[in-house]
Amino acid sequence: MFGPLIAKPGSSKKNLTGSWRAGKRPKFLRKECIACGLCKLVCPESCIEGKEKNTYKADYAYCKGCGLCVFICPKKDIEMTGEEEK
Ligand code: SF4
Ligand code: SF4
Repeated sequence: MFGPLIAKPGSSKKNLTGSWRAGKRPKFLRKECIACGLCKLVCPESCIEGKEKNTYKADYAYCKGCGLCVFICPKKDIEMTGEEEK
């Protein structure tokens, strides 16, 4: 009966949740990253990839701009920016 409910994080990968963003998205500075993986862990869209230090990045087709990755990063190596910034 609960079949159609989206139950696990990342299952919205089928939908382009990037269109939910309201003008802001995270920018991965790639300067201080220690590869702790916390950003990847907390992202509700599971749209962050990376393994080595300073290689983490978000897939903006799915990022909804929630800012959790920015909040959790212990090195302050991610910041919210406008859509136009690379
Ligand atoms: S802002 Fe960060 S945590 Fe939120 S969806 Fe985008 S990449 Fe994931
Ligand atoms: S939370 Fe910050 S330091 Fe940790 S992997 Fe992500 S970008 Fe790197």
